[in-house]
Amino acid sequence: MMFKDVIGQKPVKEHLISMVKEDRISHAQLFTGPQGAGLMPMALAFAQYVNCQNPGPEDSCGVCPACKKMAKLVHPDFHFVFPVIKRNNPKPVSTDYLDEWRNFVLQSPYFTDHEWFSFLNAERGQGMIYTQEGNEIIKKLSLKTFEGKYKIMIVWQPEKMHNFAANKLLKILEEPPARTLFILVSDYPAGVLPTILSRTQQLKIPKIDDEAMANGLMETFHVPEEQARSVARISGGNFIKARDVIDNSEEKKFFHDMFANSMRNAYSGKLDEIIKWVDAAAGLPKERLKNMLLYCIDILRESFIANYNIAELVYATPVEDQFISKFKSFVNDRNVEAMVEEYAMALSHIEQNGNIRLVLFDMSMKVSSLFRMSNQLA
Ligand SMILES: [Zn+2]
Repeated sequence: MMFKDVIGQKPVKEHLISMVKEDRISHAQLFTGPQGAGLMPMALAFAQYVNCQNPGPEDSCGVCPACKKMAKLVHPDFHFVFPVIKRNNPKPVSTDYLDEWRNFVLQSPYFTDHEWFSFLNAERGQGMIYTQEGNEIIKKLSLKTFEGKYKIMIVWQPEKMHNFAANKLLKILEEPPARTLFILVSDYPAGVLPTILSRTQQLKIPKIDDEAMANGLMETFHVPEEQARSVARISGGNFIKARDVIDNSEEKKFFHDMFANSMRNAYSGKLDEIIKWVDAAAGLPKERLKNMLLYCIDILRESFIANYNIAELVYATPVEDQFISKFKSFVNDRNVEAMVEEYAMALSHIEQNGNIRLVLFDMSMKVSSLFRMSNQLA
């Protein structure tokens, strides 16, 4: 993750970057702040910057081998500790859940503990960093540094650490191995063992300001500016809350209906229905139409990905979830790229002031033919 992908928080980013440039990285840091401010995204971006082989003045390069591995969360010198649940293993550690964790974090690094536990299908939504994690931490850190400048360990929710594990961590914080960086991430620092707290340098990350929030929402969800600004105002600087508001918004429901209808038409191939749809879409204000097409592209991709059960989709609303679970069987590697390409092309023609009705009609016919051919309906 790069700093540019962390919403707002310019002063925090500048502070962290200067820390690296001046080579005064404290070996144990605690990122705290309100929920949805972006503590985890900031920790990920900082970790990537620290180990980037070619860091720029404002961000990691994003292209060096270290950045690429950090972006996928697979860098050999990059470790995570996080609360887990007891499934089959009575003595679980973070490593047991690493694949799920990576999928979860890569979907969106803005999340709550509730979302993590429901991702794991934890019945009661409870988890902790269990006793045996203490030995795991020592094991991971005693590995020789493979390729990074630093060995980095992100500990998410240190307040959920069992005392035994916490004491092992404390011991390491007291006598840290060389070139090791701990980033503790907690929105509830009052719950962290005071002896651990006193060993860390605290960095308070404030809530996201409205301006940055609105820009972040437009970029992430393609919502119109007016809506982004109004959601930013009511979200109180909490990106997770803002995302929930947008997920449940009328606009998204409308886009969803438009997409579902266009796919129904593609399946049936009924010309009069296709024309009706084109008329309705062409009647939308241009920006809204563009957002709707972007939404269609997102849903197509998400439906395709859903076939691989890579992970449950964090962004999907219950309505979308239900839709995708049925629709995904119609989206496959024979049609998904070509269909996405049709939507993207329509989008670009509309941006270049093409005749909107013609562009949409052409797109609908091509999508219908792709859809029917690949599902052997033609
Ligand atoms: Zn790099």
